[in-house]
Amino acid sequence: MIVASTDKKHVYKSFALHNFRQIPQISRLSDEQIKDIDVVGHVLPFKSNNYVIDELINWDNVPDDPIFTLTFPRKEMLTDDHYKKMEAALDSGASKSEIKKVANEIRMALNPHPAGQLEHNVPMIEGHKLTGMQHKYRETVLFFPSQGQTCHAYCSFCFRWPQFVGMDEWKFAMKETELLIKYLQQHTEVTDLLFTGGDPMIMKNKIFASYIDAILDADIPNLQTIRIGTKSLGYWPYKFITDDDADETLQTFERIVNSGKNLAIMAHFNHPAELSTAAVKEAIKRVRATGAQIRTQSPIMRNINDDPDVWSTMWRQQVNLNCIPYYMFVARDTGAQHYFKLSLVEAWNIFQKAYQNVSGVCRTVRGPSMSATPGKIQMLGVSEVNGKKIMAFRFLQARNPDWVAKPFFAEYNEDAIWLDELMPAFGEEKFFFENELNEIFNEHINKSEISNFE
Ligand SMILES: *Cc1c(COP(=O)(O)O)cnc(C)c1O
Ligand code: SF4
Repeated sequence: MIVASTDKKHVYKSFALHNFRQIPQISRLSDEQIKDIDVVGHVLPFKSNNYVIDELINWDNVPDDPIFTLTFPRKEMLTDDHYKKMEAALDSGASKSEIKKVANEIRMALNPHPAGQLEHNVPMIEGHKLTGMQHKYRETVLFFPSQGQTCHAYCSFCFRWPQFVGMDEWKFAMKETELLIKYLQQHTEVTDLLFTGGDPMIMKNKIFASYIDAILDADIPNLQTIRIGTKSLGYWPYKFITDDDADETLQTFERIVNSGKNLAIMAHFNHPAELSTAAVKEAIKRVRATGAQIRTQSPIMRNINDDPDVWSTMWRQQVNLNCIPYYMFVARDTGAQHYFKLSLVEAWNIFQKAYQNVSGVCRTVRGPSMSATPGKIQMLGVSEVNGKKIMAFRFLQARNPDWVAKPFFAEYNEDAIWLDELMPAFGEEKFFFENELNEIFNEHINKSEISNFE
């Protein structure tokens, strides 16, 4: 077994904003770069650890290194106006609370809750809102355990950033499993339970196992797959190797597998660099040895992975490590999106080139996909009909399961980055799903179940 070298064992796990200067490698940055981290870091959340800093970032390649970009705030992640506003507040020696006020004003302008994440899809049971859950697609319930709402390190592009900067009243989180279990028992159409966050693998095994064991003890026949959405393999593989409860965590995984259910670790990797260390390889091996599957997903982002070679290399390495490529997502419209965004056409071009260059074992991946109001929509490509360019799409997941896998078409739009910028092709007034979507929407409004609809 690989153990972190002793100097690595000492974890400086999270840096508060003001003490990122303690990172030894920071001295390699220019005063200007350090200032930029400070200014932007007062608006966007920053957190990292010694694994990311020492083993993932190639400091000879900074500031272009993709993992550096993924980790550290930088000037371009704010607009000029926002940057100057925060800079002025800091330079003027404003009080903590004044700085916080400025930060929150800027944050409010960054679309903190894309597509009304706040209250949508919150299921009800016996008149209670289950605020720690989301049930959007028939088969799968999302569960946000309250202790899993932070991460080992933060990604600079993350759409969950409002909850990390403490401006959220809403933190999807539910303390107890009792209602969750009741919900799963009553909703026999649900086959998959997805633990998400933040990162549920930030939880100590004692807490994680208390959720899992209660669910397994309830012996819910319709529940077939337990998924865990996590970036821990990318950001803290020692979770499964040298953390004091690493073995216990893996034993909890084994109990899921031994109960006859599928355990799918939905691993978040953004770049092949995250697959290159001895630690991640060992961690993957140990997780796989429990009988768990590892499926991988990532958004596609400018300045991080906007290159077909990066994707084909990443998928190939994942398959070599016995992981299954699963999703390529299009980045959401929030936070520093202007810095990371790619148009749908650009994203698809990269996807296609990468997909062409790998064998079928990597082509389990689907994308580029938008998680939009009506569902997960995959861009199938650009085509031409009667001499006119069109864009083709299909639903991978949909609010109405009848929509899944049905192709539909939009007028070619090179600049569009999201569904709401697309027009139906062939002179149609609406996309095929729009009337029904409005019906679902109105139904929910009438029942006052959902005030803010995604
Ligand atoms: C992606 C997603 C799921 C899971 O969809 P699969 O296609 O089964 O992976 C479930 N719920 C929500 C809200 C999602 O965004
Ligand atoms: S690990 Fe996931 S939830 Fe956490 S900061 Fe990164 S993208 Fe966001």
